[in-house]
Amino acid sequence: MLKQAGHVADAFITAEERDFARAVELFEPDVVGIYATTGQETWALAAVRRWRRSLPHLKVVMGGPHPSFDIEVLREDGYLDASVKAEAEHTILDLVEAWGAGRSIDEIPNVASLRAGLPVQNPIRPVVGDLDSLPFPDVDVFYKYPFLRAKRVMQVHASRGCQNSCTYCSVGLMKKEWVSGRGDRFNRTKSVDYLCEEMNDILARYPGFRMVNFGDAALNMERGWLEEFATKWPERVGLPFACNININYLNEDDIINLKRSGCVSVQFGLESGNEDVRLRVYKKGYTDEIVRRIPALLRKHRISFRTNNIMGSPAETLEDMYQTVRQNREIKPQGCTVLIYRPFRSTELGRQDFEQGRVDIGKDIGPSIQSDSQMRRDDLREVVNLQKLFNVAVYLPGGLPLVKQLVKLPRNGIFDMTLLGFLWYQHAVVSGYGMLDDLKLGWKNFGQIFGRREGGTHEYGRTTLADTMDLGGEAGI
Ligand code: SF4
Repeated sequence: MLKQAGHVADAFITAEERDFARAVELFEPDVVGIYATTGQETWALAAVRRWRRSLPHLKVVMGGPHPSFDIEVLREDGYLDASVKAEAEHTILDLVEAWGAGRSIDEIPNVASLRAGLPVQNPIRPVVGDLDSLPFPDVDVFYKYPFLRAKRVMQVHASRGCQNSCTYCSVGLMKKEWVSGRGDRFNRTKSVDYLCEEMNDILARYPGFRMVNFGDAALNMERGWLEEFATKWPERVGLPFACNININYLNEDDIINLKRSGCVSVQFGLESGNEDVRLRVYKKGYTDEIVRRIPALLRKHRISFRTNNIMGSPAETLEDMYQTVRQNREIKPQGCTVLIYRPFRSTELGRQDFEQGRVDIGKDIGPSIQSDSQMRRDDLREVVNLQKLFNVAVYLPGGLPLVKQLVKLPRNGIFDMTLLGFLWYQHAVVSGYGMLDDLKLGWKNFGQIFGRREGGTHEYGRTTLADTMDLGGEAGI
């Protein structure tokens, strides 16, 4: 959006820069934009304080999930001039132009800023109704880095939105706050023509990609779209792909269309093996019958699949979590992603957790959803250990009885390394990097995992190597 309006813009990635803070300084930006999910909101604080000294005119804005639901970060001294709630394409342009002209930003929709010492959120504008009206996503700012360019799997989004409103996810509140009662649609998909053109635009400059991974909540979001996609994608783009699917809305025709399109692998959220928890508490909408039927159909049409699973939500007992293991053993996915439940204030379930005192607020677990739990529960050790050993329980013959005994042991590095081993293997395959390059990726992120880099200016929350692998966002192959 900025480039289209004649501005100069670039992106800088910490792990890819020898001296991240210096690289940004050399670019001499007037405005810096920072992305943050909850737990990461102060990651750039030290860098921003340094930039404010070397670039005295600098304005800093934060966008992403965190400031979309919590603007307290605006109070952080010397950090942000503004934050943006919800979709930012038009807002960032308005902001940059207002700052450039010395105008007030107080009336710009979606913007929040500190006024008289208090964070104030402006009303938001309608979401972008027609995704085809946006310029193609600017991948050059990422693929200027050889390491990212060398990846064989391209990350792409075909849509925005989701059919579900799971209670542990912020989508439910996004729907309420971003679109409700205004007639605009939360679920939007790019036209197949636009998407094919976007792909070919990227491939013309970066021909090394061998596969596409759609990061959308579900590629089967709009009825009829997959059918058109199956006729145009193979002919115009022709790359095999992986994607997320919503099994509640998937029928055999959709699976056939996915296969015709070149889909080799899908991922879906199983989350809990307890049907009641899945339906009543998480509001996922799918029954055990669907959880069994769809994998059978996927197998019939030779599409591999992976499941996402949650350990340690307030709705589940340890026995329910073992049931999640059993259900995975029964449906036999090609991989399992398993995360520890985290209460977010941007979700219905998370808000209840905070209201009802189920959260150990004093416990700092950093931004992680892989290493520890913030919930108050007596079986915390077992829950965290089970998340580490989940794949052993699912894939090892006789794995579950063994894991039931192991989870009683104190947490230890061997369990962490077991999870890491699975993640390393899965991510190496998913990303297309391969095992060795994936190890290099982990190594490059070392500074982020274990804190401040020597001589650097990074300030990261505590996180784990597993977190840097970002498996949740990438469907399996
Ligand atoms: S299906 Fe996924 S993206 Fe959609 S509401 Fe549920 S957790 Fe969120």
